[in-house]
Amino acid sequence: MRHFAVIGSGPAGFYTAEALEKAYGDAARIDILDRYPVPYGLIRFGVAPDHQSLKAVSKRYDKVAESAGVDFIGNVTVGRDVSIDELLELYDAVILAIGAPHDRKLGIPGEDLPGVVGSAEFVGWYNGHPDFADLDPPLSGTCAAVIGNGNVALDCARILSKTRSEFEGSDIVGHALDALDASAIRTVTILGRRGPHQIAMTPKELGELGHLEAASPVVDVADFPPSEADEALEPGQRKSIKILREFAATPPDSAKPKCMVFDFFAKPLRIEGDGKAEKIVVERTELDDKGAARGTGETYEVPASLIISAIGYSTQPIGDLPFEGGKFINEGGRIAERLYAVGWARRGPTGTIGTNRPDGYEVADLIASAMPLGSAGDRAGAGGLKRLLEDRGVMATDYDDWRKIEETEVANARPGSPREKFVRIEHWLDTLGR
Ligand SMILES: Cc1cc2nc3c(=O)[nH]c(=O)nc-3n(C[C@H](O)[C@H](O)[C@H](O)COP(=O)(O)OP(=O)(O)OC[C@H]3O[C@@H](n4cnc5c(N)ncnc54)[C@H](O)[C@@H]3O)c2cc1C
Repeated sequence: MRHFAVIGSGPAGFYTAEALEKAYGDAARIDILDRYPVPYGLIRFGVAPDHQSLKAVSKRYDKVAESAGVDFIGNVTVGRDVSIDELLELYDAVILAIGAPHDRKLGIPGEDLPGVVGSAEFVGWYNGHPDFADLDPPLSGTCAAVIGNGNVALDCARILSKTRSEFEGSDIVGHALDALDASAIRTVTILGRRGPHQIAMTPKELGELGHLEAASPVVDVADFPPSEADEALEPGQRKSIKILREFAATPPDSAKPKCMVFDFFAKPLRIEGDGKAEKIVVERTELDDKGAARGTGETYEVPASLIISAIGYSTQPIGDLPFEGGKFINEGGRIAERLYAVGWARRGPTGTIGTNRPDGYEVADLIASAMPLGSAGDRAGAGGLKRLLEDRGVMATDYDDWRKIEETEVANARPGSPREKFVRIEHWLDTLGR
């Protein structure tokens, strides 16, 4: 019997478990470990709460978790409760699927002022991530800014601009819904260092902004290159630009009190304020001949008492594992003998949920060729891990615990919401009587 430990229960972890299960059938046991008693990583804590249909992918992961050879072991933080070396003693292979949970820093003066938050923090706050339950983002000013030109920036801007009723059917946590409902923010400026052609925003996410109840998108037509230049774009990007051009051609709806202003060619230089963020000083840029942003020397100020940086994420290093550029150093997913990385921990924070699938299958293939089906294995696996955790007083949770938490969340749902997520680990553990 082979024993495999997949560390992290986000998409990459589940696709890897699925691939290993298919490759080995009942000749292997696969344990999916996670630091939280509930799985799914960014499907739970990242993907926007008003995009419920995207979260449906978790049904596929449920099936993996229900397979006879797969176990979920929650509430275990690898690197703290158990080391990689210990796991390599207990398992035939260890696969790191720990994602990239940390915000990349802006690297500009003033970014530590109160009122400046990373998108991982802000997104975690409205999605019920226990680390950010107390974030309390300042929502009493009228202006906010989001730095970044990707879909996460759009998520943040949209969530700040929606009305209470537009969250109907979402699983946004109650504390965030109440705070956003009372928010005074009327203008959200989305800052990008380059122009419309360089955005990393997909058509669906952009298009949504044109249909919000109380907010209009504002785009300056002068920011676009001549329309013939759109023809050279790949089809998805061309669609996004078409939507942006439509926004530019449509005057803001005067019946809508809020606006989302796309400020292109805008490079944040510093954040200023008297003890808290009040404005961003920005330099106007232009594109150089390689398509990079080049400062023009012209500066201006964007008022904002809440500033969200959405410029990317970085993985958490573990022990002395080789690490560079925000991810584990690996070759095709292999870090070292019997140690692998998949998903954002392997590639960095890019791509969609589905992009993690080939990662998982590729690494399962590597493992299967190193340890062919039928070859012997004599590691202790979950039995040994559970003994070790018990000795250390770590209260690991299991599949039944996860289901119990979920049932309680569903039972606690406010009207119109699929569930009310727990936002504190103590509440999860209380539910389990621990
Ligand atoms: C704000 C946001 C919105 C997004 N929206 C979309 C979208 O709409 N559509 C789309 O296709 N993609 C979206 N994505 C991208 C998608 O979420 C990622 O591609 C995907 O989640 C990456 O999967 P992963 O398994 O590598 O990491 P994660 O999903 O982050 O999973 C990592 C898991 O590892 C666990 N973990 C971390 N450290 C440890 C440790 N030391 N010990 C034990 N467990 C640990 C975590 O708890 C987590 O469960 C979004 C991403 C973000 C940030």
